[in-house]
Amino acid sequence: MRRIDGRAVTLPLDLRCDVVIVGSGPAGAAAAREAARRGADVVVVEAGRFFEPSDFPPSAFDAMASMYRDLSASVVIGPAPLPYVQGRMVGGSSPINGAICWRLPRDVHAAWVAADGALAEALPWSTLEAVTDDLEARLGVAPTDGAVAGPKNRLMAIGAEALGLAHRPIRRNVVGCEGLGRCLQGCPKGRKASVDVTLLADAEAAGARVLSSVEVRVVEHHRGRAVGVRGRADGGGDVTVTADRVILAASAVQTPALLISSGLRQGPVGHNFQCHPGVSMAGRFPQPVRMWEGATQGHEVIGLRHEGLKFETLGFGPAILAARLPGAGRALAARVADLDHHLDWGVAVKAEARGRVRVWRGRPIVTYRPTRGDVARFRRGLRVLGEMMLAAGADHVLPGVRGGPVQTDRPADLRALERDGPRSARAFTAAITHMFGTCAMASDPRRGVVRPDFRHHAVDGLYVADSSVFPTNTGVNPQIPIMALATLCARRATGSAPETP
Ligand SMILES: Cc1cc2nc3c(=O)[nH]c(=O)nc-3n(C[C@H](O)[C@H](O)[C@H](O)COP(=O)(O)OP(=O)(O)OC[C@H]3O[C@@H](n4cnc5c(N)ncnc54)[C@H](O)[C@@H]3O)c2cc1C
Ligand code: SF4
Repeated sequence: MRRIDGRAVTLPLDLRCDVVIVGSGPAGAAAAREAARRGADVVVVEAGRFFEPSDFPPSAFDAMASMYRDLSASVVIGPAPLPYVQGRMVGGSSPINGAICWRLPRDVHAAWVAADGALAEALPWSTLEAVTDDLEARLGVAPTDGAVAGPKNRLMAIGAEALGLAHRPIRRNVVGCEGLGRCLQGCPKGRKASVDVTLLADAEAAGARVLSSVEVRVVEHHRGRAVGVRGRADGGGDVTVTADRVILAASAVQTPALLISSGLRQGPVGHNFQCHPGVSMAGRFPQPVRMWEGATQGHEVIGLRHEGLKFETLGFGPAILAARLPGAGRALAARVADLDHHLDWGVAVKAEARGRVRVWRGRPIVTYRPTRGDVARFRRGLRVLGEMMLAAGADHVLPGVRGGPVQTDRPADLRALERDGPRSARAFTAAITHMFGTCAMASDPRRGVVRPDFRHHAVDGLYVADSSVFPTNTGVNPQIPIMALATLCARRATGSAPETP
């Protein structure tokens, strides 16, 4: 049996395999595909359940309740309680993400290699490029088709052009997208080539088994060697998977938490938490723009990436957009009645702050404090978003900054917001969806949790495949680089050199 649904597992279940992989998101699915194709007997253990496109709820709040971890209400602890958002289902965050695809930027790779020369051999650039080509072909990655772009994406192009900023249609992993704008709830038409229906399906075709609705609680290890994992099925049964090798792909929050819960506290596990906090700007246009229509995230501005700023259109439904608008009582009711004319764009910030993942009563907690420089980037990003909106014809913009202007149509107010606006991250409406660094890859065990070959520094047979191993954040959407590195991790775990196709 290739798929086992843990909701039906009421009695103890013991499995045996060559490689057990914890998590089925971009990292776990890519690792499973590669390991299974190399002949390993693979079991993937996933805490969330399987969803079919027909199961995806039309309501964003129902989606958060069923497909997101902690109802999408996980927050970092710090001066600004920023939400960090993760999927919890077969496919991880991939079925509910924006489908934006970026290759690992060469400058990010160069910085990693400059900091630790061993990474040049462990992550050869030409191999990463070849692996990425293969992944992009499998996932159908291509620029957003103008026919499904919709007004919100076209308007960003107009605004960026007016400001002289480099911009382009977003490259996305969709096939036959109809521009329904529901990517963050799961594509109801099955048009997103998320990893559950691509890489994981390939792994299953090569013999991998997928055990869903089973949360792994502990990595079992004996005399310095990983021997499997133990967990609990949603049906109540205890689950044990005995394996020669264990690959953790549970995300940059859950993977370090699992190591800590398993008594594996060696090295800076949980330290060096990095992310891309995103802030957004709403605007009102004279014509209907219906931000919930058109490719969910179809256009981006890349001209300020060197400042750590990357701008994207956003796509969510009326209920979420209404929650983003300011005011109360009749004023708010008037804005909500006018929702068709509003949209929201975001900027992802390559933050310099470092946080930490700890475990408290068996659950991960993340502490994180954006630096002054990060908050300055929030202000600058909002200024540019507002200027682009006004240049694209917005009547006014709504910065959503406590202590800033509620509404303005004056570029001078946006310049003042950047210059004199709040210094505290608490003033901003921000969220985190890209996380990195908590089991960093380094040749020095004091600086990293895994070696450059993805192997845990202290425990043989234990590997980490997800973005925990990234030495830094990337400044760009990470799902494709995560899949690429996880593929190399699986090559190592199955005894192959990284460049072995
Ligand atoms: C709303 C949203 C939009 C995004 N948009 C984009 C985008 O457009 N482009 C992009 O590049 N990136 C995007 N991202 C980020 C991207 O999806 C993530 O970086 C990526 O999914 C991380 O991959 P992962 O495999 O490391 O972790 P995840 O995708 O988080 O998968 C980890 C999986 O492990 C499971 N798991 C965790 N702990 C356990 C355990 N103990 N036992 C068993 N299973 C466990 C989880 O349930 C989860 O399914 C977005 C993220 C979100 C939340
Ligand atoms: S924009 Fe709509 S049709 Fe296209 S992939 Fe997303 S949800 Fe599916």
